[in-house]
Amino acid sequence: MDNKITVDGLTFVPYLTRDRIAEQVRRVAAELRHDLEGKRPLFVCVLNGAFMFAADLVREVGINEGEIAFVKYTSYEGTSSTGKVKEIMGLQQDISGRDVVLIEDIVDTGLTATHMITDLKKRNPASIRFATLLYKPESNKTGFQPDYVAFEIPPKFIIGYGLDLDGKVRNLPDIYQLKED
Ligand code: 5GP
Repeated sequence: MDNKITVDGLTFVPYLTRDRIAEQVRRVAAELRHDLEGKRPLFVCVLNGAFMFAADLVREVGINEGEIAFVKYTSYEGTSSTGKVKEIMGLQQDISGRDVVLIEDIVDTGLTATHMITDLKKRNPASIRFATLLYKPESNKTGFQPDYVAFEIPPKFIIGYGLDLDGKVRNLPDIYQLKED
């Protein structure tokens, strides 16, 4: 794995390697495969941050009858949450009676997750499951508990593997943590 990197004058240090990520993606995928047996799930990737995790996860889950859809929300500016969740792109299809699996990059305050779930519940799905790559339990302001978590992490800002800093560095295959001095 590369050494530290600098983005917009901030220094980031290596945190989770692509190998560790792949290992936990396989574990979460196995849990989902088990729990979704016999169902025809609708996987909903929350853009932009979850695109890489969702791509790896749905391939590992391997349910060919499942469908994949995308929604887009924003709440972050720079390295902190604005506290306001904005829907940029909603779900077009009918989800009544469907088993929905939300795929998110990270649960921080839990505001985006609770906002999305409240919206989706109004549309009568059979079930809603929530899978997240990362979860910062110490930042949770809502009491929201994700059903599937690849990694629990401390409340420090991270980038890579889909997660950005003002739109940049989503391409990095590994995850880096902001270095605080
Ligand atoms: P929440 O609504 O739970 O506070 O935040 C969820 C969203 O905030 C995530 O989907 C992500 O876009 C952003 N976010 C939270 N923590 C981080 C972080 O450490 N790094 C990056 N790049 N985004 C974060």
